[in-house]
Amino acid sequence: MSLPADYHMHTPLCRHATGEPTELAAQAVRLGLREIGFSDHNPMKRDDFDEWRMFESDLDRYVESVQQARRDHPQLTIKLALEVDFIPGYEDWIRDLAARHPWDYLIGAVHYVSESWALDNPEKLSEWRHRDAFEVWSAYFERLTLAAASGLFEIIAHADLCKKFCFYPQQDCTPLFAKFLEAANRHGVAMELNTAGLRKDCREIYPSPRMVHLAKQAGVAIMFGSDAHAPGEVGMNFAEAVALAKSAGYTNYCRFKQRRREEVEL
Ligand SMILES: [Zn+2]
Ligand SMILES: [Zn+2]
Repeated sequence: MSLPADYHMHTPLCRHATGEPTELAAQAVRLGLREIGFSDHNPMKRDDFDEWRMFESDLDRYVESVQQARRDHPQLTIKLALEVDFIPGYEDWIRDLAARHPWDYLIGAVHYVSESWALDNPEKLSEWRHRDAFEVWSAYFERLTLAAASGLFEIIAHADLCKKFCFYPQQDCTPLFAKFLEAANRHGVAMELNTAGLRKDCREIYPSPRMVHLAKQAGVAIMFGSDAHAPGEVGMNFAEAVALAKSAGYTNYCRFKQRRREEVEL
């Protein structure tokens, strides 16, 4: 059995990843993957927005580095994409970015639950201690639901990223998950099974087995991402992610070309 496509990979242009696209592609070939996609952190209009994304002036260089990987590894299908931060009010900027290159897909991601706090940033960990976990999870899922309903994205990334540092609320979060999944289903947006969670404090794929089961019941399609920030992370723990998907009843996953979706057998 060959592993599914790895659609979530970063490059050094985001300033916190190592390995050129061609090196990640070489690793994918070694692992026997047939398809991958690069989805580096999108630039913002202001380059000083934060320090963990590419500069706007590097966008063309990013595309060129992915094209170089394609030239170096013709046996591998390599998709061109972005992981785009969804922040209410930035829709026009996202549409602007979407029009600049022939993206195969855009992954919508929520990291920011306010203008200045990315809840997965280890340097802002103290912020969690000043806040109520349920309020943060509620704000996070509210934005994730807006992202799914925005019509801007084919995929939603790491759906329960808010568990990264293990600040779990006491309250039942099922209604938060259900609202997001209902929006994802209604707008035909796929949900990512992201294995990076296994490498974080939470030690669990994003999203949780429970959410993957709820997603299947809600009719939400899935795809897979390692969120590789280094060549050694390409396709990491994919067998585990496939097993999770199958345990929830999934028999297919999605691939994308020029922002159109096709389902393939798992
Ligand atoms: Zn990153
Ligand atoms: Zn992310």
